[in-house]
Amino acid sequence: MAFVADLHCHSCHSDGTLGVADLFALAASRGVRLIALTDHDELSGLFAARQSATQHQIQMVSGVEISAAWAGKSVHIVGLRLNESHPALVGALRRAREERLVRAEAMDAAFVAAGIDGALKGARAYAPNPALISRTHFARYLVDRGVCGAVSEVFSRFMKPGKPGYVPHDWMPMASAIELIHAAGGRAVLAHPARFDVDATAGPEALIKAFADAGGDGLEVVCAAHKPPEWARYGALVRKYGLLASVGSDFHSPTESRVKFGDLPFLSPSLTPVWHDWPEAKALHA
Ligand code: AMP
Ligand code: MN
Ligand code: MN
Ligand code: MN
Repeated sequence: MAFVADLHCHSCHSDGTLGVADLFALAASRGVRLIALTDHDELSGLFAARQSATQHQIQMVSGVEISAAWAGKSVHIVGLRLNESHPALVGALRRAREERLVRAEAMDAAFVAAGIDGALKGARAYAPNPALISRTHFARYLVDRGVCGAVSEVFSRFMKPGKPGYVPHDWMPMASAIELIHAAGGRAVLAHPARFDVDATAGPEALIKAFADAGGDGLEVVCAAHKPPEWARYGALVRKYGLLASVGSDFHSPTESRVKFGDLPFLSPSLTPVWHDWPEAKALHA
C-alpha cells in the first residue's frame, strides 16, 4: 500500500510561517505519513520535529534544503535522513546563515537605493529565527507595507536577478552540498528541478547530469513546481541517470503555498523512491 510522503517543507526556523508543532499537526491532519522538515540552511527545527512526529504518530526523517550554486545559477539541494550533528555540515550551514546576514545588509542598501528604506528592519520582524534571513522575509514585509500586492510580485519586481533589490550571492558549489550531505550519512536530492533558471546556460538535463556525476542521489519528480508533463519528463531523467525519486510540496504557508499537504499524487510505481530502504518507510508497510 502506498502512503503519503512529503519530504520537503519549511517551518519558521527558515522561511515558513508555521512553527514546527503547527506544521506537523497540519501535515498529520492531511494524511502525511512520512515527512522531512527541510528548512533552508538550518537544522534547528529538527529536535521539535522529532517530538511532533512522535506525538502525531507519523514517520519522520531529518532534512535540510541547502542553498548551492551550479554554472553561476542558484540551485537547492535537499539532504535527507542525515546526522544533523555532523560537524562539517553544522559548520557549513552556520557559515551559510552568516553569509545570508551579510547579503541581507546589502539587500537593505539596494532597497534604499531603490527608494525603500527600512527593508531589513522590516524583514527581521517577519523572521522568528534571527539567524536565518531569507528573501521571503523581505517580501512579506513589503507586502504588508503595501509596496506590492503579493509575495510573488515582490520577487518579480524587486528580488530576481537584474531587479533593484536583488543581490547576487556566492552559494557553496552544488558538489560541496552533495559532499556535506553524504559526509553526514544522508541522501542528496535535487529540489524542484523545473524551477531553476538554467535553460539559458545548458538546460535542465545538463544540471541533472552534473548532479548525478557529482554523486547526487535523487530528484524531486512530484513537487509543487511540476505538472503532469514534468512528472513524466523528470521521471524519465531519473531512470536515465539511475537516480531515486522524491516527493515534496515545498510547503511554506497556508496562505502562500499553492499545494496543500497531502494533495500531491503518488510517484509512478516505475520509479524507485528515495525512501525505498529506509526503516521509517518500512514501518509504514508493517
Ligand atoms: P533565499 O533563499 O533567501 O534566496 O530565498 C529563496 C526563497 O524565496 C525560496 O525558497 C522561496 O521560498 C522564495 N521564492 C523564490 N522565488 C519566489 C517567487 N517567485 N515567489 C514567491 N516566493 C519565491
Ligand atoms: Mn523558501
Ligand atoms: Mn527551494
Ligand atoms: Mn523549499
